[in-house]
Amino acid sequence: MIYKPETICVQGGWTPKKGEPRVLPIYQSTTFKYESSEQMAKLFDLEEAGYFYTRLQNPTNDAVSAKISDLEGGVGAMLTSSGQAASFYALFNICSAGDHFISASTIYGGTFNLFAVTMKKLGIEVTFIDQDASEEEIAKAFQPNTKALFGETIANPGLKVLDIEKFARIAHAQGVPLIVDNTFATPINCRPIDWGADIVIHSTTKYMDGHATSVGGVIVDSGNFDWNAYPEKFPGLTTPDDSYHGLIYTKSFGKAAYITKCVVQLMRDLGSIQSPQNAFLTNIGLETLHLRVERHCSNAQKVAEFLENNEKIAWVHYCGLENDTYYELGKKYLPKGSCGVITFGLKGGRDASIGFIDSLQMIAIVTHVADARTSVLHPASHTHRQLSDEQLIAAGVAPDLIRLSVGIENVEDIIEDIQRALEKA
Ligand SMILES: *Cc1c(COP(=O)(O)O)cnc(C)c1O
Repeated sequence: MIYKPETICVQGGWTPKKGEPRVLPIYQSTTFKYESSEQMAKLFDLEEAGYFYTRLQNPTNDAVSAKISDLEGGVGAMLTSSGQAASFYALFNICSAGDHFISASTIYGGTFNLFAVTMKKLGIEVTFIDQDASEEEIAKAFQPNTKALFGETIANPGLKVLDIEKFARIAHAQGVPLIVDNTFATPINCRPIDWGADIVIHSTTKYMDGHATSVGGVIVDSGNFDWNAYPEKFPGLTTPDDSYHGLIYTKSFGKAAYITKCVVQLMRDLGSIQSPQNAFLTNIGLETLHLRVERHCSNAQKVAEFLENNEKIAWVHYCGLENDTYYELGKKYLPKGSCGVITFGLKGGRDASIGFIDSLQMIAIVTHVADARTSVLHPASHTHRQLSDEQLIAAGVAPDLIRLSVGIENVEDIIEDIQRALEKA
């Protein structure tokens, strides 16, 4: 039986048999026992599926990744120790030294650094493009060695909504997969695979966990990209892997080739696994994801409307507002709501923005978004404080930009805190 998303959130991934725990257990074990040397050898050769070492696979992690895969409509998924690891593995699984990929320019700052600085050191080049440019314009950035196109469903903190169908058309016309970071939207509000994305990643640290307890990430494989159609482009998937006696992923694992390679090759060698303890906590979060996301969105909508109508506010970005640049794309891709994150600036500029956040009482200043508690950050003073005003604007972060992550408290209390701080600012 195929369940609806709300039911998958609660029931997915773990179906206990007779006498087994009702709640997904934490398999806090590095290793798993076998009866004979031959049984173990078959696991190492990937001839049989089974657990042998938690760096590769663990039952708690597998239950959680199966739940997320079902929520996103994928054929398989892999948990990682962080969202950063998920972004890196998603690309490194199909790119090596000498390769190139293309990314939207307004993406999470950590992802931007990973792409622009660290992956470059590995010999993998990125070209950043304006995600709102025409298909023709974006197509010009492709090179013979381009291996993927990357974007965020809702950009953090730019809050731009990605035209996923357009991106999928561009990527597929060039014979490369589209990778989408769906962290802010979550599969409750948008399933990028339904719009043509091939790989979906998340920082599970955000709404999926939802309580700010566990850093984590996930990669979901749609199983839809035909790697065999471009064997010269994706030799890692279509030619023998010497580290498994010449096994060919597309031959042995079909639609799950990409995600299987990610687990048995990259995770084996690089080892950024999510701890079973964190997977357990992420799963507790997932059980209420659908309820929390709904409340985050309805609260954020009310807060955005309040800000839009306040005379001290210079501007507000939230795609649920009819005047927002991304209102139409939001209606198409995020009909149930976007997320709890709003950005805005005060008429008094940078200093007024700082005065405002220092005057908040309940709403805390933290380097985090997307958990149950409303929180706030001033990127120009915090995450982006090394940048000059000119650099800030180039990075899409206005000097007065306040990032407000609306939580699931009573919205009247959130608005009252904001109102009091605005009066002081
Ligand atoms: C936080 C975040 C990441 C990085 O995730 P970590 O879990 O912090 O490593 C990636 N993408 C987006 C959109 C994020 O918000």
